[in-house]
Amino acid sequence: MRIAVLTETDANEARVAATPDTVKKLVGFGATVVVQSGAGAQSGLPDADFEAAGASIAPDAAAAAGDADVVLLVRRPEGDRLAAVKEGAIVIATMDPYGNEAALQAMAERKLAAFSMELMPRITRAQVMDVLSSQANLAGYRAVIDGAAVYGRAMPMMMTAAGTVPAAKVFVMGAGVAGLQAIATARRLGAVVSATDVRPAAKEQVESLGAKFVAVEDEEFKQAETAGGYAKEMSAEYKAKQAELVAAHIAKQDIVITTALIPGRPAPKLVTKAMVESMRPGSVVVDLAVERGGNCEVSEPGEIADHGGVKIVGYLNVPGRLAATASSLYAKNLLAFLETMIDKEKKALAPNWDDELVKATLLTKDGAIVHPNFQAQPA
Ligand code: NAD
Repeated sequence: MRIAVLTETDANEARVAATPDTVKKLVGFGATVVVQSGAGAQSGLPDADFEAAGASIAPDAAAAAGDADVVLLVRRPEGDRLAAVKEGAIVIATMDPYGNEAALQAMAERKLAAFSMELMPRITRAQVMDVLSSQANLAGYRAVIDGAAVYGRAMPMMMTAAGTVPAAKVFVMGAGVAGLQAIATARRLGAVVSATDVRPAAKEQVESLGAKFVAVEDEEFKQAETAGGYAKEMSAEYKAKQAELVAAHIAKQDIVITTALIPGRPAPKLVTKAMVESMRPGSVVVDLAVERGGNCEVSEPGEIADHGGVKIVGYLNVPGRLAATASSLYAKNLLAFLETMIDKEKKALAPNWDDELVKATLLTKDGAIVHPNFQAQPA
């Protein structure tokens, strides 16, 4: 059982898919682990630490992955790295599968068993493997830190001899994993926090963190959650009513943090240009959905945009801005999933292709796209 850990090649990717801790566990399960030189460098993990944990170091992706049975990555392999993986190997990564069917086809043609960690079911058994949560939690935290750093004023109320500084008003849009952590972080910094979401279950969670819930609570809102706990696309009528309420609220905010996503669809546009123009100069919008098209009309991917004195922060890969912590949690998520495919007595790979976690996450196998959500369209 040979397991390879490769260096990420995307310029915005500082994370790594294994840490010395997870390597040690894999070696304990009987695996031979090969780490590409430099894989952990941007997460503060030098090659020597991986070697000390029992891995060997390979100079490049081809040498690391060439005869590996399992390849661990943060992002899906493409180009040379895809070519480096041997046919039939298991590849575990965040595959970003929606809208990327050509890349899935390329992995199928390499006959990989490609697993997409984002598709892990959100059931109790798989909580430890939930990369969306482990990374979104950090993104929510970092969004507040990034917003506070750009904001030209203090966050908490301060009563000083030179005068009173009012607390910043922070509004969090989307109260899922990232949003709830953003609320908690902004509260810790002393801000006055409010939040909105289209899922009724979010109201209680927002209020339990000491924030005010802002939403049109009509009949549609009460039904607005899928069985899987995700947001539904709302009707045009609801969106208009909600936008009106939110518009009046945003005009009074200092920092707006947007985290709203709908799986497999572009991010909903929640903060219009006019709303940004209603905010006072010096205010800040942090758009965590920028990679999915953005929640704010004027955000620019990878930039801090300035719109009439309002700063719109559009950092890409926000979990990667906390690479050491993000890698440590991501690596644990991957280890927990891979562990379910290892027969520890025989010290061998033994995936159960009928396991519900395997079925939910397996994109390609034996030369074909096998996941029901991504079947190739007939020509
Ligand atoms: P997400 O990243 O898909 O979306 C972020 C948030 O944006 C969600 O709360 C969503 O409702 C909200 N949103 C979407 N459209 C919106 C709009 N127009 N206006 C305002 N908000 C909007 O969500 P997530 O953080 O992955 O969490 C989704 C759900 O899964 C939550 O209910 C969460 O508690 C649940 N969850 C369950 C588990 C588990 O049981 N293992 C683990 C993690 C999350």
